[in-house]
Amino acid sequence: MKEKSFIAKKMTSIPPSGIRVIFELAQKYDKLIRLEIGEPDFDTPEHIKKAAEEALRDGCTHYTSSLGMIELREVVAEKLRKDNGIATDPSEDIIITSGGSNALSLAMLATINPGEEVLIPDPYWAQYDGLVRVTGGIPILFPVLEENEYQINPEDVEAKITERTKMIIINSPNNPTGAVLKKENLEAIADLAIRHNILILSDEAYERIIYDDITHYSIGSFPGMEDLTISAFTFSKTYAMTGWRLGYARAPKEIVAEMAKLALFQTSCPNSISQKAGIAAMKGSQNCVTKMVEEYKRRRDFIVERLNKIEGISCQKPDGAFYVFPNTSSLLDSSYELSKFLIKEARVSTTPGKAFGDLGEGHLRVSYANSIENIDKGLKQIELALNALKH
Ligand code: PLP
Repeated sequence: MKEKSFIAKKMTSIPPSGIRVIFELAQKYDKLIRLEIGEPDFDTPEHIKKAAEEALRDGCTHYTSSLGMIELREVVAEKLRKDNGIATDPSEDIIITSGGSNALSLAMLATINPGEEVLIPDPYWAQYDGLVRVTGGIPILFPVLEENEYQINPEDVEAKITERTKMIIINSPNNPTGAVLKKENLEAIADLAIRHNILILSDEAYERIIYDDITHYSIGSFPGMEDLTISAFTFSKTYAMTGWRLGYARAPKEIVAEMAKLALFQTSCPNSISQKAGIAAMKGSQNCVTKMVEEYKRRRDFIVERLNKIEGISCQKPDGAFYVFPNTSSLLDSSYELSKFLIKEARVSTTPGKAFGDLGEGHLRVSYANSIENIDKGLKQIELALNALKH
């Protein structure tokens, strides 16, 4: 009898997560200092948790619209207008999702046909590649270079555009580099999208985690981009709400209608209690966000300075997110080997840059979603282990 696989063929084109190896190795050691973490180390602010408790008590335990509660969509619309400069109609062009990841997957499933190409900046958050493959689309990488401070060079994007190009993904502030795209950079990308009639999927998960006098610009607010942009956001990072699974997207209403159809199949709707918490998060004082960002900034300044003092490491100072992406290429060629070495010898876990694409090789992603004390201890241990490596 012919051998039959129950696994869908498309799954074989999706590589397993590269960081799994590191994760499994890390499990074998206690007392590791965790600098690979991709989520805030803060607890969700009290007033948000209280709103969830009240929602539960008040019996807010039923399905909502697959677009999300209208009350939350209205609050989101106001935020998008005020903070992002994006004009919206909450009854039609906003969808509340189960986290930012769900917003990205609904957006891609609703728009990408098999064989269509999606341009992704390399290095990139690894899930983009897998998500494109799930749709039957083809991920096409374009380089984003360290010497260009990880700003996108529009010519590198244009060079990859073909008649099959359907979408360009951008992610600012960026995971893993922490780079925040400048306004003129985004304008050049918007110009490309308009000239070639290509959709932009703008992942703005870290929009509020930015430092100094840097401004975050939403490409969806630029002239001519309203019909060409899907803007994806999340409560996860801004309000330390990763476990609540709450995000949202603004897109042209035809796309939102298809995303809502898909959401009905996948989850019916986002968690009702989380939605009530989301209303409190956005309506309440934003001091909690300011405080968390101030603390991230303190840690960023500390970690960049300390890393640059370690022989063989050079680290740019990123403007956003809670990651640094130091160049470690003079220490070991393979970032996987370096990351494994640091787990074993320094008892510190980091993420190998290669897990974020070929251009991530020669780097580590080091997260500062951890206390200054732990970061300090971790870096001391790294320094000692690297000294031993050299001698
Ligand atoms: N986009 C980026 C770049 C991320 O790093 C993450 C999470 O790490 C997400 C989106 C999605 O986060 P969530 O699904 O928790 O909203």
